Amino acid sequence: MELDSLYQEVILDHYKRPFHKGLSGTPTKQVHHVNPSCGDEITLNIELDGDLIRDVNWDGVGCSISQASVSIMSELLIGKSVDDAFKVVEEFTELMQSKGSILGNEEVLEDAVAFAGVSKFPARIKCALLGWMAFKDAASQGLSQQVKGEK
Ligand code: ZN
Repeated sequence: MELDSLYQEVILDHYKRPFHKGLSGTPTKQVHHVNPSCGDEITLNIELDGDLIRDVNWDGVGCSISQASVSIMSELLIGKSVDDAFKVVEEFTELMQSKGSILGNEEVLEDAVAFAGVSKFPARIKCALLGWMAFKDAASQGLSQQVKGEK
């Protein structure tokens, strides 16, 4: 099987059977991000315990790339520290900006390397990054909220 079609399978699988979809729990922070150029929308909850990511869950509508990407991301980042998660986000962002020139580090990105091919299509990059940007936003806000002692 070609790598590209294998990757498409991974994306379609997550689109059809998304992980951590459905808003639940008592989030430290909830954010809503949209990608108007494609019509993708994601509401993302993050639950922090200090700098540990206890849970990420989300709800959304949009194209298969945007929805599969946030599914893979949630699975990947739950249980990590915010610092470690930000490193993964950075790595993924780099992959998305690579215009197809890199394959992505599978040890860090796991299933998210499936989006490597998407980086060749400028119009779809925002779709792939939507959930990750929402996460970054929610985690930063959640952290500073905790520092201020709000919860
Ligand atoms: Zn999209």
